[in-house]
Formats: sequence, structure tokens, C-alpha cells
Amino acid sequence: MRESKRLQNLPPYLFRRIEEKIERATREGKEVISLAIGDPDRPTPAHVVEAMVREVRDPANHSYPTSVGLPEYRAAVAEWYRRRGVEVDPRSEVVALIGSKEGLAHLPFCFLDPGDLALITDPGYPVYRNCTLLAGGEPYLLPLRPENGFLPDLTAVPAEAARRAKLLFLNYPNNPTGAVADLDFFREAVDFARRYDLLICHDAAYADITYDGYRAPSFLEVPGAKEVAVEFGSLSKPYNMTGWRLGWVAGNAEAVSVLGRLKSNLDSGCFQAVQRAGIAALLGPQDCVREACRLYQERRDLVVGALNSMGWNLAGPKASFYVWAPVPRGYTSAEFVEAVFERALVILTPGEEYGPAGQGYFRLSLTVDTERLKLALERMQKALGRVQF
Ligand code: PMP
Repeated sequence: MRESKRLQNLPPYLFRRIEEKIERATREGKEVISLAIGDPDRPTPAHVVEAMVREVRDPANHSYPTSVGLPEYRAAVAEWYRRRGVEVDPRSEVVALIGSKEGLAHLPFCFLDPGDLALITDPGYPVYRNCTLLAGGEPYLLPLRPENGFLPDLTAVPAEAARRAKLLFLNYPNNPTGAVADLDFFREAVDFARRYDLLICHDAAYADITYDGYRAPSFLEVPGAKEVAVEFGSLSKPYNMTGWRLGWVAGNAEAVSVLGRLKSNLDSGCFQAVQRAGIAALLGPQDCVREACRLYQERRDLVVGALNSMGWNLAGPKASFYVWAPVPRGYTSAEFVEAVFERALVILTPGEEYGPAGQGYFRLSLTVDTERLKLALERMQKALGRVQF
């Protein structure tokens, strides 16, 4: 048996490696606190669980679903957009996804031929890069720098690369940097996509996780965005539903339909009971989302306060549940993360795991019980003392 060359070049998924590290330490009797993975620690809201229990009893939900999703689920997604002042046609401009990762991973197969480029922000969610490679395309990385608010400088993309590119991946609120983008940047991206005839894939998985009264715009709020863009949404983060696997793609009708066509050949859609529970989440009371944001905001303030008392100078993110911070002087990202693991038994994520421009940073996730988070911060304070940059 020999795996394909395509697979030989595919690294094991980042969090698989982190899980292995935790498993090893736990076997050795160490009590590790992981701040590495962005997976909500709170349960799915009760009314969503109740809807699921009801729907799972209904035999009408036991058959194969349609691969593009129930019309009622797609209408609930259209309602999510209507609340943001955006009209999308649920029939032609929305497709249900088995989590947004599924659609993001499959999109490169729809639009890249060998030799085509995908412009990908660096650091970034690893799926854009790895699935571009799997699909036979070439990632072209756009560095995100703090001096530019972790937005890519589209004017710095060489015309030659822009002409060869078929896709541009964007993600705001951003994982891992926690940065946000305003409508002016989205407008600039729409102009860029028109100029070079490429499709923008905006990953809005964190659109509902916002703080301090900030509201994250949908990419589709820009007039004309639907001509050049699709947006990926997810129920995972706002409704603590990572395990349920439910998301969507919305926007450009042609791109949505091409992804739907690929999916109809690959999978048979999301379990209908899950889609119906998703409708309960999207159309039901939204105080659960506000409560989740309040909790993450409280934890963000704890983390930023503790790190700043140790010598960092962080403002903290306005959205997403990640704190992105530079490593102290004298360390690479990997060395710093290893030192924190060895000395404090706290697991952080090294920035370069998200791409070369992430070197010099680490990511800390706020999806950990508040008391454990406090304990992790105390351990870090004890182990590191005051740090220098
Ligand atoms: N996009 C980003 C930026 C993410 O961080 C994640 C998950 N961590 C996803 C998409 C995928 O989310 P899901 O498949 O659960 O919708």
C-alpha cells in the first residue's frame, strides 16, 4: 500500500497533533490546561437540543436529505442575512453545509485547475491552504501585518499573481488574529475581484462572536458583492454546535450552484433533524448568543489583563474568541509554546502553524471554563514572571 503523492504532502491536521501531545502528558499523570483549540465549552442552548430531540423522533427526517439542504433551513439562513440588511434568495443563493469547513474544503475543487492560484491570507485557517493544495492549485500567501490591522494589502499583490488567481480567501472576524474588517475594506476587495475576475470566499464563521457593542458586517452588505463573492457561515460558534456540523454558503448564485453540484456527487447533505434544530437556533431567541459573547468578553478581559500585567501591551480582540499575541524576545513561536507547556502545563498554539507570517506570535483560545482559564493564567504568571520584547 502506498498513499497518493497528494496525501503525502498533506500534514496531519494541526489539532490532531495537539491532541496527541495532551494525551501523552495526561498518560504521564500531568494536569494539562489546553488553551489551544477554539471549541465552545458551554452546551448547545436547551431550546435547540429540544428541537433536535423532537425532530429525531419524526420518521420524515430519517431518509436521505437533499444535498443542498431543506428549503426551510435555507430560508432561515436568508433570515440571518435579512437581519443584516442583505437579501439572498434561499433557493438559488444558499446551500446548507455539513459545517462551514466542509464547504471551504470543497470550494477549491470547484474553481481551481492545475497551476491556478488561490490568494490566501497568512496567517490563516489551515483548510484554505491545504485544500487548495489537495485540489491541485497553488496557494499564494498574502501576509497579514499588525501595522495594517491584520488586513491584506491588496495593492501589493503583483498583477501577474492576481491574474493567475481564481480565488481569494478572506476571513473576518479573523482566526487566528482576532482582527476585524470594515465595509471599506470589503469594498476594496470587491473592486479587486472585479478587476482580476476572481471569486472571493469570505469565511464569516465568527460573525456573531463580537464584543463591546461591535457588529461584524457580512461581506454581502457591499453593493455588488454577490457578483464576485460567496460567504460561509456556521452555527458552530454562536450556538455552541461544533459537534452538530451545520453551516452554509451564500452569495453568488453560480458559485453556490457549482458547490452544490460537487456536493451532490460527494455527500448526501446534513441530517434533516440537525437542519431543523438549526432552524430553531437561527429563528429562535438570540439571548443565548448574547450570553456567549458576554462570557467570552469577560474571559478576554481576564486574559488581556493578566498578559498585560506580565509585560504584554495588548488591546484584545473586538470579535472571535482568540487572543493573538507576540512571543517574548528570544523565542520562536514554537519555542515559547514549548516553554509554556514545560513550565506551566498550559498549551497554546504556535503562530506559524497558521502560516509563515504567524511566526513570532501565539494564539490563545477563550473557550475554556473561566476558573480553569484563571488557573492557566496564574500558572503562566508564576512560570514566566515579567517578559521582555
Ligand atoms: N472557519 C474558521 C476560520 C474556523 O476557525 C473554523 C473552525 N474552527 C471553521 C471555519 C469551521 O467551522 P465549522 O466547520 O464548525 O462550521
